[in-house]
Amino acid sequence: MSEKKVAVVTGGSRGIGKEVALKFAREGFDVVIIDLFEDEEAKATVEELKAAGSKSKIYLGDISKEDQVDGVVEAILKDYGTIHVLVNNAGITKDNLLLRQTASDITAVITVNLIGTMLMTKACLRTFMRQKYGRIVNISSVVGIIGNKGQANYSASKAGVIGFTKTVAQEYGKKNITCNAVAPGFIETRMTEAMTDEAKAAIAGNISLGRYGTPKEVANLVYFLASDQSEYITGEVIRIDGGLA
Ligand code: NAP
Repeated sequence: MSEKKVAVVTGGSRGIGKEVALKFAREGFDVVIIDLFEDEEAKATVEELKAAGSKSKIYLGDISKEDQVDGVVEAILKDYGTIHVLVNNAGITKDNLLLRQTASDITAVITVNLIGTMLMTKACLRTFMRQKYGRIVNISSVVGIIGNKGQANYSASKAGVIGFTKTVAQEYGKKNITCNAVAPGFIETRMTEAMTDEAKAAIAGNISLGRYGTPKEVANLVYFLASDQSEYITGEVIRIDGGLA
């Protein structure tokens, strides 16, 4: 059982999710991460979280599979007692021009990025409703707002996350549950390293601040949207893109 507030971060072992997890740990949360594999990087992240004072564990599961999502959330509730914050961060890309995207490229990206976010949220909602408190922060993307060549599947999934965010905010606001989205631009992680040159070129020239963002900068915004400083904000989408959009 946890004596602190509990934050769950999907895909928290690396990239943006790792910095989000560390931010919550440093702010006094117990932080749980959900990931597909427990590799060396994931183990190192859990050690860093513990060093920051958080009672942390990694739970393995695929957020796009309902039985795994339900099983993991049940295990977290058994171990920690409750959940206060859910950060839906896990996501994937399979970039290509639409004509070259296979049906399985399209299905995979929408299933993880959109359906995974929906299933995780659904699994946590009863707990949030019972305690009349919940903070949900979904990681969308600026390309869900403005589109991007080579990312038809991904931008559609991230636009879907925005519609989903606004609907959850309306359905559960009266239970003191807020649901917001952040829409990062081009952030330095493994994901942007893997983008095609075409997709990179389409974005890079247009960043007003002239540089990519860092996972830490995104983590600060995510934390703000889960903190008491933002308790009257819900159904909002905040871009963090150096002026790209
Ligand atoms: P990343 O470094 O690739 O990390 C993604 C994480 O999600 C990994 O830990 C990965 O686990 C996990 N994951 C993937 N599929 C999963 C599944 N089905 N179930 C559970 N976990 C899964 O990506 P990132 O750049 O930090 O991106 C984080 C989020 O920000 C994503 O939603 C992404 O779309 C969004 N975003 C990123 C950027 C950017 O520029 N980087 C911009 C806008 C939005 P494994 O490592 O085990 O595969």
